[in-house]
Amino acid sequence: MSRNEPLSIKKVLIANRGEIALRIQRACREMGVRTVAVHSTADADAMHVRLADESVCIGPPSAAQSYLNVPAIISAAEITGADAIHPGYGFLSENASFVQIVEDHGLTFIGPTAEHIRLMGDKIAAKETMRALGVPCVPGSEGGVADVEEARRIADQMGYPVLVKAAAGGGGRGMKVARSAQELPNAFSTARSEAKAAFGDDAVYIEKYLGRPRHIEVQVFGDGKGGAVHLGERDCSLQRRHQKVFEESPSPAISDAQRAEIGRVCAEAVARMNYRGAGTIEFLYEDGAFYFIEMNTRLQVEHPVTEAVYGVDLVKEQIRVAAGLPLSFRQEELRPRGHAIECRINAERLPDFAPSPGLVSHYHAPGGLGVRMDSALYSGYRIPPYYDSLIGKLIVHAEDRPAALARLRRALRETVVDGIDTTLPLFAQLADDPQVIAGDYDIHWLEKKLSGE
Ligand code: ADP
Repeated sequence: MSRNEPLSIKKVLIANRGEIALRIQRACREMGVRTVAVHSTADADAMHVRLADESVCIGPPSAAQSYLNVPAIISAAEITGADAIHPGYGFLSENASFVQIVEDHGLTFIGPTAEHIRLMGDKIAAKETMRALGVPCVPGSEGGVADVEEARRIADQMGYPVLVKAAAGGGGRGMKVARSAQELPNAFSTARSEAKAAFGDDAVYIEKYLGRPRHIEVQVFGDGKGGAVHLGERDCSLQRRHQKVFEESPSPAISDAQRAEIGRVCAEAVARMNYRGAGTIEFLYEDGAFYFIEMNTRLQVEHPVTEAVYGVDLVKEQIRVAAGLPLSFRQEELRPRGHAIECRINAERLPDFAPSPGLVSHYHAPGGLGVRMDSALYSGYRIPPYYDSLIGKLIVHAEDRPAALARLRRALRETVVDGIDTTLPLFAQLADDPQVIAGDYDIHWLEKKLSGE
């Protein structure tokens, strides 16, 4: 089928803000699809509102009353005649009941089914599903663990240290390490009560605690009808407080053969699930082995590194598949080329990463060959204090990793964000760090470096 065939989706409401709202608008515009921006009163002057075809104010600044306000978003779609909703990442992107409500109103949700979102949102069910589909998992309990006696039996068998994790977990919350049998009762009850408080669900499970893993995730894409491909991996091992800071593709730690194998396993798993749209299967990687930790059923913040290396537009592909068209690429057509790196630039003051919202008196984006800046900043924009602090993603692409790092150093020097503090200086340091240059670190390395260890 032709890639230019008429789309059944004519107008998309983008239920998000910031750089990702712009990113989605750009894809829509190139496809001839009209866009509706929604915004809080605090975002009336935001770039995503200025550039959209239409915009609707959906509530006051607090996200709970605006970007998470389902009735207001559905009403905005109805009054503007939008036929589909793209949720971006965060906010409502992995909310299964939202998907159900969208579909109940006769609108298309640009993403997976409510059922797949719900399944992967329950980590115990997600792990059981993946194990059954042949995806390698972290050794641990089979399903939930009811009480501390059962926890002790499993941990004794597996050996310490172990990790007690919340089934409903997210953002690294509801997770406790027990280094010995003595520590287990406390870890178990703390994880339980944290999970109950944070997610209203105290189901927990146990895993072997991996001491020095890397974070490697596989990008998958399904057509919802049993077809799926993978688009290689991203290495997101440079993290702070479980938040990714610097991501790259390909991973400096794995071989072409390992990529092909883990990619095949992941693509097969999502094909067998009849998964629809973009997804990411996250692994910890240690001593040559992959261990599944979770699947994200949405577009990821770091998707541009995959787009750079594979030469595809993942947002356009999401819209195509949501409109019922087949995937525009076959596995054998997807060949990685070169190396890409993304830096997540935050409005934060170093060294403590304190939020630094306020007036951006001057903004100049870097440019040139192999440089992409996804940002909703402009000179004179006032960053509101109500939302996350991501203000831009700098993505560089070059023929290999050393060339990508050189391009990153060059692009960072061109970037100007005046008036507020940003994490730009951290990336200048990282790009020159011998261990980053060697690609030699685990997920704890950055945290240790920042704390001066
Ligand atoms: P969340 O949804 O809260 O992000 P994850 O299961 O993705 O939960 O785990 C969050 C982070 O916790 C991982 O990125 C990793 O740093 C750490 N982690 C998770 N499971 C393990 C494990 N078995 N061993 C060591 N670290 C782990």
